[in-house]
Amino acid sequence: MSSNVRVRFAPSPTGPLHIGGVRTALYNYLFAKKNKGTFILRIEDTDQTRYVEKAEEYIAQSLKWCGIEADESPEKGGEFNPYRQSERKDQYRQYAEQLLESGHAYYAFDTAEELEEMRERMRKQNVPSPQYNAVSRQYMKNSLALSADEVKKRLDNGEPYVIRAKLPRNEELRFEDEIRGWVVFNTGQLDDKVLFKSDGMPTYHLANVVDDHLMKITHVIRGEEWLPSAPLHVLLYRFFGWEQPIFAHLPLILKPDGHGKLSKRDGDRLGFPVFPLNWKDPETGEQSNGFKERGFFPDAFNNMLAFLGWNPGTNQEVFSKEELIETFSLERVGKSGAKFDFEKGKWFNQQYLKMQKPETLVELASPVLEKNGVKKDDAFLRQFVMQMVERVVFINDFWSEGKFYFQAPDAYEEKMIRKKFKPGKKEKFPELIKALKETDPFNAESIEQTVKTFMHDNELGFGDVLPIIRIAVSGIMQGPPIFEMAALIGKEETVNRLEKGLEAFEGIAGKD
Ligand code: GLU
Repeated sequence: MSSNVRVRFAPSPTGPLHIGGVRTALYNYLFAKKNKGTFILRIEDTDQTRYVEKAEEYIAQSLKWCGIEADESPEKGGEFNPYRQSERKDQYRQYAEQLLESGHAYYAFDTAEELEEMRERMRKQNVPSPQYNAVSRQYMKNSLALSADEVKKRLDNGEPYVIRAKLPRNEELRFEDEIRGWVVFNTGQLDDKVLFKSDGMPTYHLANVVDDHLMKITHVIRGEEWLPSAPLHVLLYRFFGWEQPIFAHLPLILKPDGHGKLSKRDGDRLGFPVFPLNWKDPETGEQSNGFKERGFFPDAFNNMLAFLGWNPGTNQEVFSKEELIETFSLERVGKSGAKFDFEKGKWFNQQYLKMQKPETLVELASPVLEKNGVKKDDAFLRQFVMQMVERVVFINDFWSEGKFYFQAPDAYEEKMIRKKFKPGKKEKFPELIKALKETDPFNAESIEQTVKTFMHDNELGFGDVLPIIRIAVSGIMQGPPIFEMAALIGKEETVNRLEKGLEAFEGIAGKD
């Protein structure tokens, strides 16, 4: 059963898709699926000057990786083909002409220099933000100010022109935004935006409204940065006599400190990605990192994004995609900006990692381990991932945080050694090594028993013994349960490491 809900994600291929864009796509997708509607991907590539090669492909790949699949798209096609605005070019002119005829738009012939002169003149008159509007247009070269003959002459001569929207001078405009409630603007704050350019292409505003109408879009869910454009869009719907879709402007994603919009520079500065996939700028060759390559699971990434602006109203934080679809609603999207928190993103990834079956983790970790020369059978690796799972955030961490399972440590946490490896106690450890050599079978329980007996016989506490074993075996204090770890690497390796460790500790403790 499908409904008439139709939403779209309408990116412009001007560069890599920022996570804010992915979140817009995700919310549209969740809203469509929740309401049994249709989710459309439309590429808004009418601005040739800002077109970036490979950006469209990047957008498609990013959405694919996230599992945000469009029902209609340039790739997939659909009832309202084509879904790339550059291929719809011929359709827009007639709508600009319709507005000319109804008196809601006009021709403007001003050159770039003339426009600059106008702004300069107005600045001199202390107009803070000079605009081409109901007042200034009277003094410019357009079909409202020039005589009909003059306009005809210019058009017949093939003079370059643009078509501008004719905004009312001082009118209150209001529309209800699903997230922000009533939004009120005065047309006096707006300028007569260009709808159609001299290169024969529509601007974003015209193409966007025309396509939303033709594609029967019911809800326009997009970022807050488009809120200032909404009044013009509302006016265009009115000029055309079309039914206006419902608007929902999503809150911004902010820098971690909450001061301003999250940018690529913040990511570079603070060491986290702001793009879903790696991206290499085709012009400058500059590389940017992606969440995928950083080691994120797509579902964890989506889960993190979903919470940047929305919350379910309960304490539940981990949501599968199906659960997000089930739970998502625009009512629970907030108005205020959402601070980006990379640590929280890592937390989400860790939750997803912990949910995987051991065999899946083995499968995922194997390539990383193999790359580092590890050759172990599946039974070993299964134990390994189970012991490490609480301590890793990304699959790569299985190697970086757990390499001591495969090789003896080459350095030791010295501070603890200096504290613990003291005369009166340190001489006793050879006895422990001897006891461990005799421990059979060499499993976690029997190792624990051996260690406890050793402690008891020598009147030592856990704090005297465990740090020494731990650091000798793994090099560090924080790690997986030590008895299990020792059992997995085996008696010979454990004993070797302890022997080697005790020798090294003499040197370390002696440094004081
Ligand atoms: N093409 C616009 C963008 O790049 C679309 C804005 C909208 O959704 O209306 O985000």
